[in-house]
Amino acid sequence: MSFKIAIASGKGGTGKTTVSVNLFEQFSEHSEGKIQLVDCDVEEPNDHIFFNRTKKISEEEVFQQVPTIDKDKCTFCRKCSEYCEFNAIVVIPPVRFAEVNQSLCHSCGACSVACEFDAITEHPESIGKVSFYKTGNNKGLVEGKLKIGSAMQTMLIKELKKRVPLNAEIVLYDSPPGTSCPVVETISNTDYVILVAEPTLFGLYDLKLMVNLVRELAIPFGIIINKSGLGSNDIYEYLYKESIDILGEIPFNKEYAGVYAKGQIVGNMPVEMKNVYKSITEKLHKMGC
Ligand code: SF4
Ligand code: SF4
Repeated sequence: MSFKIAIASGKGGTGKTTVSVNLFEQFSEHSEGKIQLVDCDVEEPNDHIFFNRTKKISEEEVFQQVPTIDKDKCTFCRKCSEYCEFNAIVVIPPVRFAEVNQSLCHSCGACSVACEFDAITEHPESIGKVSFYKTGNNKGLVEGKLKIGSAMQTMLIKELKKRVPLNAEIVLYDSPPGTSCPVVETISNTDYVILVAEPTLFGLYDLKLMVNLVRELAIPFGIIINKSGLGSNDIYEYLYKESIDILGEIPFNKEYAGVYAKGQIVGNMPVEMKNVYKSITEKLHKMGC
């Protein structure tokens, strides 16, 4: 059984990807088993950029089943639109109009079941791709990339998670930013969530939203403070008051920020920063990871 860890943050730009990639490297160095990194930020997957020796092994197109309405068979009874929980079907009987809005459809199949006139058929529509990369011995990266124009982030993440190799000892999910449905899908059914936050007022506001979310989902979690030393103490006061664990603090390092901008973080980490990641993975190991 894999130990699954999601790395999430309430907003973009907190260093979630840096933390994900560096934890992946750190785990790989000290583990005999297979480690898998899963880039669930399907609108802008960029984890692969940070690996010099990344090799794409394969790619799979992911489809959703989308219904279409045959107007010759349709009686414009509106039953399908009443069944659709996502308001994806518009039926206007006086003008004999019946259509499915593909960007709202969640492929639940309810409309096909509802229609008594055999007027609905389903056809596959691509929502994006899942790519598999080899990043070295015993470590792999799986990435989801949403098709341009598709709004099916959550569905693609669900399909992406199903395709993660089952033999991985540790799976790290790099979540999209925010607290919306794609994030809930990413962190659902994980064993632990790492929340990455910056010690600023905005960072604290977004962190509180994330804390509420993971508490609602009842998943154990801890915090990594990124760019520590840059902001205020408010975040520390909040964490202390809420009895929330700080897994580690990553100090702001101008030189390393430049290395990050060039996509070269792997293998270029200053020793003091490497020690922080080492101590974080040791803490996670103690928790059963
Ligand atoms: S349920 Fe069938 S017949 Fe009725 S409006 Fe929908 S597609 Fe047309
Ligand atoms: S498949 Fe489900 S979500 Fe899509 S149009 Fe039909 S009822 Fe609505």
